[in-house]
Amino acid sequence: MSSYAEIDAYLDSHLDDSIAELSRFVAQPSVGAQNLGMQECAALTAEMLRKRGFATEVLPTGGAPVVFGERKGKGGKTLLFYCHYDVQPPEPLELWETPPFEPSLRDGKLYGRGVSDDKGHLTARLFAVDALLAALGELPCNVKFIVEGEEETSSVHLHDFVLNNLERLKADACIWEFGGVDHEETPLEYLGLRGICYVELSVETASIDVHSGLGGSIFPNAAWRLVWALNSLKGPDERIRLPGHYDKVRPPSARDVELMDLLPETAEVYKQQYGVQSFIKGLTGGAALRVEEVFTPTCTICGLTSGYQGPGSKTVQPAKASAKVDFRLVPDQEPADVLRALRAHLDAQGFTDVKIEFLGGEAPARTDPDDPFIKLVCDTAPEIYGKPMKLIPMSGGSGPNSPFVHELGLPVATAGLGYPDSRGHAPNENIRLDLYLKHARHMARVLLEFGK
Ligand SMILES: [Zn+2]
Repeated sequence: MSSYAEIDAYLDSHLDDSIAELSRFVAQPSVGAQNLGMQECAALTAEMLRKRGFATEVLPTGGAPVVFGERKGKGGKTLLFYCHYDVQPPEPLELWETPPFEPSLRDGKLYGRGVSDDKGHLTARLFAVDALLAALGELPCNVKFIVEGEEETSSVHLHDFVLNNLERLKADACIWEFGGVDHEETPLEYLGLRGICYVELSVETASIDVHSGLGGSIFPNAAWRLVWALNSLKGPDERIRLPGHYDKVRPPSARDVELMDLLPETAEVYKQQYGVQSFIKGLTGGAALRVEEVFTPTCTICGLTSGYQGPGSKTVQPAKASAKVDFRLVPDQEPADVLRALRAHLDAQGFTDVKIEFLGGEAPARTDPDDPFIKLVCDTAPEIYGKPMKLIPMSGGSGPNSPFVHELGLPVATAGLGYPDSRGHAPNENIRLDLYLKHARHMARVLLEFGK
């Protein structure tokens, strides 16, 4: 039998074992936001790696530990997998058809919090490792796993962890935590992620709320102060007014625009799915909308809080107001620059009373669409998925890929078992077993070809 046939035969006949391992992994809660089960889940992750002969360490950070495993292979090259063992909170619990931490198999799908994001990705990749060990007796290349526990809480310690462990994490390429197929079952290859700078702005104008008949005429109003400060950040033209905010923005290349042009039309889908009537900046659809969607920086008010919002009226002047604001960043913007510019801008506009709390950030990062590793990941997919991967120049979302791209110097490819109804972060999160098996088959081929 050829290696591929032998590997596939192993995967087909051991799928139940891998799903049982995933179920056990999912049954161990690991809710970072609630600090629930983090140490236990890190220990379980380490056990799963050790079982396969990986030299494994549970390394402390300022928060949840990072689990690192390494196993030597035949070839000299090293493939690094980045995954995470933490999950999103399961609430609202009443919307789950079966309890989030009691994995349930029905209609070819496994349900549970974290089955897709991201525990299933880790076990499917370990499943591929098992198949290679069974078929070849050794791994075709060196394999490293970095499995963090803070991905769902902004990976606050990951960047420093990478900087402090450059030698340990040294590799030639990286497979990212997520991936999957679109609504047409086409596997997607995301070439990068936007960056982010997340802040909370707050104003306090008095020690307590005051009767609006008294304070309204003579006291500063926290809500108004905040609204005016926010108003100074962006105009109705959607242009962000922080000094120098666009200086480092690199426009998409001709290749990027060409790739964006190949992606399906989204305007009508968005209108139906989200009930929006129209888009900003006069956009109507086409490649222009898709390019704008990911290649422009944003300043988004994510939430606003002040004063009384209960039923009826309450004539009160609020002492405090706050807003959560995120800035999505595009290459080559940096969160530190945004923070500095934001402070300078607010001060210059007379808002020295507006406090800024930095809640997290990461720089944007991308891998070249024509990188040989991207080609390898894409070339091994059609045999499994029946069609080529679709290259997506950048995702509108953010993640901690910058230290992998910029500090470790790795090409980063996405591949995974997600699909449009995975319901990540939502009730009834699930995976399809057929896609789980496909992802394991794909990863086994990537490892095999990478080792050649
Ligand atoms: Zn997630």
